[in-house]
Amino acid sequence: DNLPADKILENTRRQVENAAYSYVNPKQTSNPKVVHTSKEMASELGILEKDLNTDFFRDIVTGNQIYPNTKPFAMCYAGHQFGNWAGQLGDGRAINLFEIEHQNKNWKVQLKGAGETPYSRTADGLAVLRSSIREYLCSEAMHHLGIATTRALSLSVTGDSVLRDIMYNGNAAYEKGAIVARVSPSFLRFGSFEIFAARNDLKNLKKLVDYTINNHFSYLGKPSKENYIKLFEEVSKRTLDMIINWQRVGFVHGVMNTDNMSILGLTIDYGPYGWLEGFDFSWTPNTTDRENRRYRFGNQPNIGLWNLYQLANALYPIIEEVAPLNAILEQYKTDFEVKSLQMMKSKLGLFTSDEDDLKLIQSLEDNLQLVETDMTIFFRNLSDFSDKISGIDLIKDAFYDLESISMDVKKRWNIWFNKYADRLKIERVSSEERKENMDLVNPKYVLRNYMAQLAIDAADNEDYNLIDELFTVLKQPYTDQPKYNKWFAKRPDWANNKIGCSM
Ligand code: AMP
Ligand code: MG
Ligand code: MG
Repeated sequence: DNLPADKILENTRRQVENAAYSYVNPKQTSNPKVVHTSKEMASELGILEKDLNTDFFRDIVTGNQIYPNTKPFAMCYAGHQFGNWAGQLGDGRAINLFEIEHQNKNWKVQLKGAGETPYSRTADGLAVLRSSIREYLCSEAMHHLGIATTRALSLSVTGDSVLRDIMYNGNAAYEKGAIVARVSPSFLRFGSFEIFAARNDLKNLKKLVDYTINNHFSYLGKPSKENYIKLFEEVSKRTLDMIINWQRVGFVHGVMNTDNMSILGLTIDYGPYGWLEGFDFSWTPNTTDRENRRYRFGNQPNIGLWNLYQLANALYPIIEEVAPLNAILEQYKTDFEVKSLQMMKSKLGLFTSDEDDLKLIQSLEDNLQLVETDMTIFFRNLSDFSDKISGIDLIKDAFYDLESISMDVKKRWNIWFNKYADRLKIERVSSEERKENMDLVNPKYVLRNYMAQLAIDAADNEDYNLIDELFTVLKQPYTDQPKYNKWFAKRPDWANNKIGCSM
């Protein structure tokens, strides 16, 4: 506690035992500049708009100044990466600054890319502009889609260069350094619990679980064995809800390792994520996962469950009963069936129930994968279905290569649309009402990879207008914004590599 300042600054890489975090100070940056701030996030934190433009704010969110009387720290956690136990990981490039309480909410503010920590292993603790833009834009977009996520307060450039392997040609190159100030009620991950269980440190495991209940799940009551089980049930439910929402909007996380699974069920760690363009269950944005495709779109619900098994194993030593944990994991499977069907029905504008609904949805998913068919455009345009426009005419904008669509594909779509038209007859709402409801669950604007890439290329030349434009349009993803029609469009030909970017 009373370490001299030079000791606090010493961030030697090491195994950190018996602790959930290590004190560490952010690195000084040479020429920091805030390039964008989230006014919405700032206002939730009670930060006034005029204060966002100050040198003080800039220095705090780039780590050049430590807020008086606070002690920044990096968190210790472990995790399963790509199905394998990876041991200690921890915040290798994230530093927690402080907490803010505003309107009865408690937020943690963290810098990503502010320098090395005891958990940096062989890496530098820094972040580049390209990945920071991707996290900044996507996490706020996710929030406005109504999906649980960590948030972002600001995006800054540091003025420093960062050495990175450019994946296209395998050569190392310097890129612009950047820092995102991100915000969450908690950055605890499944891996935060796994590390104590793996080290058989039950004292600290219990302490952390009790802390989690007292601070984030106090509605469950006081910490007790019974409430540890309830905690696991809550985490399981929230995780499933988050993933069902990802499936609804076509978001593929890309690295669902247990160190990237929030204990609050928030979307966390925007690394090599991507958005579906063509609807494809086998698609993954992660170039390092092309072989097994473990984290492919269609596998996300299964991986959520796999990760929950790891969390169950971690909590078991303080629960000491297998049956209730197993029951919760079984429940995840049945809840998935129910919620997933409900979600797909909402995308189709089906509010009543019919025994063939599941079949109708499965044949739709089959059709969507016959030829490359844009998920976002398909579902958004489907809400215009009527006697006047249906079939291929309705969805032709969703096909990447309309010319090449065979008679067979056309036939299958016609069959499907006939079934859909029949099915709609038992609905009781008007077409207008159906459209209104469908447009609330089928976003019109999502952060396609090429959009982020355009913003990155412009920002690389110090033009930040596109970041602001995308930020603005993605604030209202379900609302028609004619002014921004160009962002309701298929991926252009030049962006055809369909691969996301990583770190
Ligand atoms: P991720 O795949 O992003 O979840 O990262 C896995 C681990 O690597 C985490 O412990 C990260 O903090 C760490 N890490 C990733 N990038 C860096 C970096 N540039 N410097 C230090 N640690 C990093
Ligand atoms: Mg991570
Ligand atoms: Mg990451």
